Amino acid sequence: MGEKILVVEDEIALQETLAYNLRKQGYEVETAGDGQAALELARQYKPNLILLDIMLPGMDGFEVCRVLRKEMTTPVLMLTARDDEIDRVVGLEVGADDYLTKPFSMRELLARVKALLRRVRLIREEIDNAAPTSASNQALVFENLVLDPNRREIRLDNKAIPLKPKEYELLLFLAQHQGQVLSREFILERVWGWDFIGDSRTVDVHVRWLREKIESDPASPKRIVTVRGAGYRFEG
Ligand code: CA
Repeated sequence: MGEKILVVEDEIALQETLAYNLRKQGYEVETAGDGQAALELARQYKPNLILLDIMLPGMDGFEVCRVLRKEMTTPVLMLTARDDEIDRVVGLEVGADDYLTKPFSMRELLARVKALLRRVRLIREEIDNAAPTSASNQALVFENLVLDPNRREIRLDNKAIPLKPKEYELLLFLAQHQGQVLSREFILERVWGWDFIGDSRTVDVHVRWLREKIESDPASPKRIVTVRGAGYRFEG
C-alpha cells in the first residue's frame, strides 16, 4: 500500500501538479487549499507526510505547522517562496522537518519526499528493534559510574557529577541501550523528540561534553564509543 501524503497548497495548478506526480510515484494523495482544511484532513487522513505551503489564505503554513506539531509527529516538508520565510523555517521555530524553495523541480521534490519518508521509516524500525536493556527506574551501575534515575544524577567514583538535563537524558538513554549501536537520528528523535529539529551535530556536541565528564581519557573514549558511519554505542 502506498504511503499517504497530504498536499497543502492554495494555487490549484501547483496543487494538481504535485498530486499528479506523487500519485504517479505510487503515493496516495489528499489535497487541501487552506490551513483549516489542512488541519482537519491531517487529523482524519493521518498522512505519512505533509507538504505544506506557507502562503495560504487565512491561517498560514507556519501556524498550521505549529498546531500540527502539538498533535502529531508526521514529518512536514514546507514549501517556501520568500527569503524571510526561509529564515523562519531554517530557524526552525515552526518545527518543519525540511523545506523546499519555490520554484523547485518535481524531481527535487520527489527526492526530498522519498528521503524524508525513508528517514521516518528507519527511525520507526529502530524504535521497534531497540528495546531497553534495563528497567528505567533502577540505578545503573557501570563499574565506577552510577546513574540514578530517581535522583536524576550520576556519580563517578562516588562523586556526584553535575550534568545538564539533556546530557543526563542522553547518557541515560545510551546506558539503557548498552551494547546497541544507536544512530544520531534515532538518538535525536528519542532524547530531543520530534519537536526538536536540530541536526545530528547536536548529538555529537552532547556526546563530547559527556565524554569530558565521564571518560578517563575523553580523547580515546571507552564508554561512549563512536561507531563509524552508524552512530554511538554505550559500552558500560
Ligand atoms: Ca500559496
